[in-house]
Amino acid sequence: MDLFEKCWKFTEARELQASGFYPYFMPLDDTEGTEVTIGGKRLVMIGSNNYLGLTTHPRVREAAMEATRRFGTSCTGSRFLNGTLAWHLDLEKRLAEYVEKEAALVFSTGYQTNLGTISALVGRGDYVITDKEDHASIVDGCRLSLGTMKRFRHNDMQDLDRVLSQIPAEAGKLVVVDGVFSMGGDIAPLPEIAALCRKYNARLMVDDAHSIGILGGGKGTAIHLGVNDEVDLVMGTFSKSFASLGGFIAGSEPVIHYIQHHARSLIFSASMPPGNVAAVSAALEVMIAEPERIERVNQIGNYMRQEFQRLGFNTGSSQTPIIPIIIGDMQATFFIWKMLFEEGVYTNPVIPPAVPPNLSLLRTSYMATHTDEQMAFVLDKFSKVGRMLNLIP
Ligand code: PMP
Repeated sequence: MDLFEKCWKFTEARELQASGFYPYFMPLDDTEGTEVTIGGKRLVMIGSNNYLGLTTHPRVREAAMEATRRFGTSCTGSRFLNGTLAWHLDLEKRLAEYVEKEAALVFSTGYQTNLGTISALVGRGDYVITDKEDHASIVDGCRLSLGTMKRFRHNDMQDLDRVLSQIPAEAGKLVVVDGVFSMGGDIAPLPEIAALCRKYNARLMVDDAHSIGILGGGKGTAIHLGVNDEVDLVMGTFSKSFASLGGFIAGSEPVIHYIQHHARSLIFSASMPPGNVAAVSAALEVMIAEPERIERVNQIGNYMRQEFQRLGFNTGSSQTPIIPIIIGDMQATFFIWKMLFEEGVYTNPVIPPAVPPNLSLLRTSYMATHTDEQMAFVLDKFSKVGRMLNLIP
């Protein structure tokens, strides 16, 4: 059989494109954060991860431009050999201080951070234990590791206990969870997870991609829940609240030092470009100097969740400014996405395998820079479309 046969037979995406209901790889002609233009049409953006609205903040923008003017556009090499700037080290120091850990290490993406960290730490004979709703980059890190991967039911502590109890007591164990789950917007019960890690002598890593800049005064889930000392590793990405591209892992100095010398996605890939590093540094300064942004994004999230629920929508277990609108059927989800798009609201349809079968949803997420008028507009459109399709009374 020809290797490419599967490519010729792959027709689902083209069929969706032909039907006009294809929502992916959508080219934006313009974006100013809370509003985007697509094919000349303006839409309110409730489908991004720009939680604090910092991608267009004058200080962040200027920092990226200034760094590019001074150091050029790329480091053209890995951190290991020729791609480390003093600025990378300065950022690592500042991030470690921010999340209250001894040391931090920056990677070129969050995806690479999870891949490199997990595969470096979990060796032959070790176990890595993940929540079934963990991000794909965690799953891929586990697949790349030489250890054994075990999964527990989403946020189910009895099931985590069961899984841990079945692993040989003497084996090395790493539990990895999302602090805030990227699709459901719910929070991992870290105190309970940490207690189970203590019981079974497992280490704990938290992916805080969607929590930094939002929970714990911006510092993430472990600080929000008062268990930072019991979380061994905090991972973050720069592609969301930090308004840039890259990621970091933070923890105790010897562990970070080990990851630095064993993570293949760090050693064999070019480092973060100067403009990206400078943008993160500036975003961190703004996060500290303007805490009202963190307050505002949470306030908007709480308001929108309450209003969606009042209208009769199913928002699942969301507790954060990530609010899923659970539709169920995949075709219906595409249909509603399209109607909202026509009405001027940009959302993200999420279908299996990203969510369990029959739990397709529209992922909505909010920014500190959304205005009250934009929120009223979004709710009005959801209400109109929801009633037309008999989703809500
Ligand atoms: N972890 C989680 C929970 C994420 O949602 C994402 C990105 N969507 C990543 C990791 C990867 O981050 P990056 O975009 O920086 O590769």
